[in-house]
Amino acid sequence: MGFVRSLIQLAKLPKSRAAIAQRVTPDYFPRALETAYGIALDNAGSSAHQMGGKPSWKNADCPNCQKPLQRFLSLDASAPELVSLGWSAPRLELLLCWECPLGQDTFTYRVNAANELEILHAQRGEPETDFPYENYPRWFAEARVNLEPLDSELDIDLRAHFYLGKEFEDGLGVDERFDIHRHMKISTPRHQVGGVPFLFDWSETLCPCCGNRMEFLATVADRTVVGEAIVDNDYVQSVAYLCRRCQVVSMRQECD
Ligand SMILES: [Zn+2]
Ligand SMILES: [Zn+2]
Repeated sequence: MGFVRSLIQLAKLPKSRAAIAQRVTPDYFPRALETAYGIALDNAGSSAHQMGGKPSWKNADCPNCQKPLQRFLSLDASAPELVSLGWSAPRLELLLCWECPLGQDTFTYRVNAANELEILHAQRGEPETDFPYENYPRWFAEARVNLEPLDSELDIDLRAHFYLGKEFEDGLGVDERFDIHRHMKISTPRHQVGGVPFLFDWSETLCPCCGNRMEFLATVADRTVVGEAIVDNDYVQSVAYLCRRCQVVSMRQECD
């Protein structure tokens, strides 16, 4: 973006965060769910959603490591907040592997009617020997989690932050003018399903089947709800995109 164009655009910005947040339309940033949910440990242990554990799908192995993929999130696709996704399988699982090059490129997959994982794209390469950290757990402790709608002010701030960050990468004092880092929690990855998240990378993900822009589904930050480190770097996130038409999931890892 040109500097002059940025200046003109800055002059035209609405004064309120709420008005700026409204600029993040579904066309501007496609998302699978309009409502943003945080992910919290379910102390009652009765939620159908889980963080961690092994994949529930068959053949859900990393093609490089020859062992089951890491499961960051397993969502009950029939839950009221997710039913609009139209996901055809009982569960929608966010899978990746951090112990080999798989996570260095977009990992794309779907699940078939027999509940088997079908990998559409995976970066191939030899497993790592000392990454991400010593005594790395292959699976994170399985925990029941609740999806809790985000506080509305936080939701507005996330949307405004997204717009300002994406439009004004060259600065122009936007950060100070709108105090966009007033909440540290906004400019640090967090667990979130739906809505508009904090992201390090705004580039689009295209569905390998239909070529359309995929919709944001969820982001998982570095600490599981029971405190295990996924990579041991607070500035890493795993981001899931969805093509509802093709029933395809793409996972990307992003860092600052
Ligand atoms: Zn692997
Ligand atoms: Zn598609």
